[in-house]
This record gives sequence, structure tokens and C-alpha cells, in this order.
Amino acid sequence: MTSFIIEHQCPQCGAPAELEETDRLFQCGFCRVRSYLSVPDIFRYALPHKAPAGTQLIYVPYWRFKGMLYSCVPGSIHNRFVDISQQAITSQCFPFSMGFRGQTQKLRFANTATQGVFLEPTVTRANLLRSIDERLSANLGKPILHQAHIGETFSLLYAPFYLKEKVVDAVLNEAVPGSTSGAVEPLLQQPIEPNWPIGFVATLCPQCGWNLSGAKDALALTCTNCRSVWRLKHGKLEVLTTAHLSEPEENPLYLPFWRIQADITGVALNSYADFIRVANLPKVAQKGWDERPFYFWSPAFKARPQSYLTFAAHATTFQVPDPLTPGLPAGSLHSVSMPLQEAIESLTLILAYFAKPRQRMEAILPQLRIAPLHAMLVYLPFREGPHELVQPSMNLAISKNLLSHAKNL
Ligand SMILES: [Zn+2]
Ligand SMILES: [Zn+2]
Repeated sequence: MTSFIIEHQCPQCGAPAELEETDRLFQCGFCRVRSYLSVPDIFRYALPHKAPAGTQLIYVPYWRFKGMLYSCVPGSIHNRFVDISQQAITSQCFPFSMGFRGQTQKLRFANTATQGVFLEPTVTRANLLRSIDERLSANLGKPILHQAHIGETFSLLYAPFYLKEKVVDAVLNEAVPGSTSGAVEPLLQQPIEPNWPIGFVATLCPQCGWNLSGAKDALALTCTNCRSVWRLKHGKLEVLTTAHLSEPEENPLYLPFWRIQADITGVALNSYADFIRVANLPKVAQKGWDERPFYFWSPAFKARPQSYLTFAAHATTFQVPDPLTPGLPAGSLHSVSMPLQEAIESLTLILAYFAKPRQRMEAILPQLRIAPLHAMLVYLPFREGPHELVQPSMNLAISKNLLSHAKNL
């Protein structure tokens, strides 16, 4: 699993700083000013080079994809973690994959200060996903009934090369085997401007002006003064509807989940009672459960693929009963590291998970359509043991180790 370091400068005082790839909340070690990193689409990084001074560099784009891939095939759900960096152009002149170079180098944000010729990506994200899916599905059973990518991060890594009879990899200062510089010339005709500034959003609560808090990788920031939760959308802070489950628990740690209500077609699933039938749960539907709405529950934090789906299924089975207490709980919070958009990708998988026997997936999945309607961020209290976090009502235990390792996913 790769994760790299980005060298950077404080936008306020210019002091040098190092960021981890997943960092969003940045606090300068010198001037202490905190800001939240924002880009309109994706982050773009440049690898450092060792080329002789004055060399004209060519920056070649590589897609970096990191995330979980789930595939439903007759009888089973496969999952795997994918960590790939491959050419975002199609050219034989450069290596197809970046390999592990990004991991061992300190990167910088690519911008107008990066001297060189930048090539435009011609492989779209959709094409990239298709090629990843095809490659990784070759050994799976067929037909593939459903595939989902969850929690993925896309970024572009620009790798430096230069021409000297052959194409030279400027990271290693080594010629690319079998390459000739002549073949590269046509690619240089339409360079692009690396005009990709990073936005820094002030981390003040838009509602009350208090300092927002969160872990470095937090996708949601919290205000401990007016007890609101915020996420960045199109460069602006937007409030998130939040609630929590109050349970008498001493020093609980709250884990965030997305509670999602959806319009479902293809399977009768309008109430909790329907869900008990569909999922074949060993429960007898009680009076009133025909009226009780059904919600999907997905972790709002990262976990390994196998665990992520298990936690989602567990929480969905439990269906935390209403009423929830509105707003942020008082207590320690685990940071939100799985965005809602990504959690939504898990809904079909959650239903597939409950198809028993698994062969039923073949009947259910082809006509299943799920359209999310509303979502809420819900914090559930966990009791902290030496190795595990335990949610007693839900009967769910989550290894602390697993949560801390998930930071790099
Ligand atoms: Zn500073
Ligand atoms: Zn506030």
C-alpha cells in the first residue's frame, strides 16, 4: 500500500511544510494558521527530478487510483483493495505504470511554478476504471452481476522525463528502454498550462465564527461551540445534518455512520418489516414495523474492504431506532474519512450481502435500482476496550488496530 509525502509551503507565512496524501486540514507549524485544502476537481502532483540544470522537462500524467473494488458474481462477493498508478495518456514512449516511484519520493503540488512541458491526459477516469475492472476481474466467475468502487481517491501524478536521443526518466536519470526521442515530438505540440492553484479555506464556523476542529484527514469539520458539522463542497463549507445515539456509556468514542434513505425498485423494501423478510433475518416483525422506515447504514470512516461491508451490514441490520438526538454528541469523535458520495456506492452491495443463499443475487441484482433520497451523519457511541471498540446494543466490535491502519487506505 503506497502513501506519499507532499512538500509544501504555508500559504500564510511561506514556511516549509510536509503533508501526507490524505491530509486536508493543514496547520502551519510556524504561524499556527489553520486552513483546509480545496481543489475544484482532483489533486495534481509533480515528482522531483534529477535532470541536469537547464534541461527541458516533459511532465507525463499518470492516474493514481486508490480504493476498494467489489465484484458480485454468482454465489459470492469479491473485494480487494486497489492501488494503481498508470499512464493517463496512451504512449509507448513512457513506462505504462509508475511502479513505486511515487512512494519513495517527496512530491510537490504541480502548478505554474513547475518548469516544464505538461502533457494533457487523454485517458478519462471512466476509461481508467473500465481498464482496472477488466484487468482485475479476469479471474472472477462470470457473469459479473455488479461492481462498485468505494472510497476511491483519484489524483494525477506528473512524472518528469527529458529527451536525449532516448527518452530519459528524470526521476532516476535513466533512459527508458527501447524508447526513441523522435516518437515523443508529436506529443509536445499541444502542452497544457499547469494552472492548478490549491485553495485554502479558513476553518471558521460559518454559523458562529468559532474555530472548527478535525483530524488532519477529516472530510467533515466540527464546531464544538454551536455543535454543527461542516463539509467542503465546491470550495465552500456546507452544513451536514447530524444526529447521535445517546446511550449511557462512560467516555464513549463516537464513530460516524451515514444513514441513507433511498427509493428502491426491483425488490419490495419500504419498511423495516420488509427488510426482515428480504434479508431473511431471524427476527419476527413486530407491530408497527410495517410503518418504520428502512435505512441503509454505511460507515463514514475507512476500513479494509471486507470489514467495511461487514460493518455496513451490521449497522443496517441493527437499524438504530428513532428518535436520535439531533446534533453533535459531547465526547471523542472518530473523524469522517468516507464521503457520502462514496458510501452511497455501497447500497447495492449491502443488499447483495443479505441475499441468502448467495445464488439469490442473480435474481435480485439485475433489476435492482437504488436512488438515494436523504442522508444524515449519525454518531454511534462505542465503548473503548484495550484492543477493541464495542457497540453494545449493536453487538459490534471493531479492532482499534484496524481503524488506525485504515488511515492509509
Ligand atoms: Zn505559516
Ligand atoms: Zn459554530
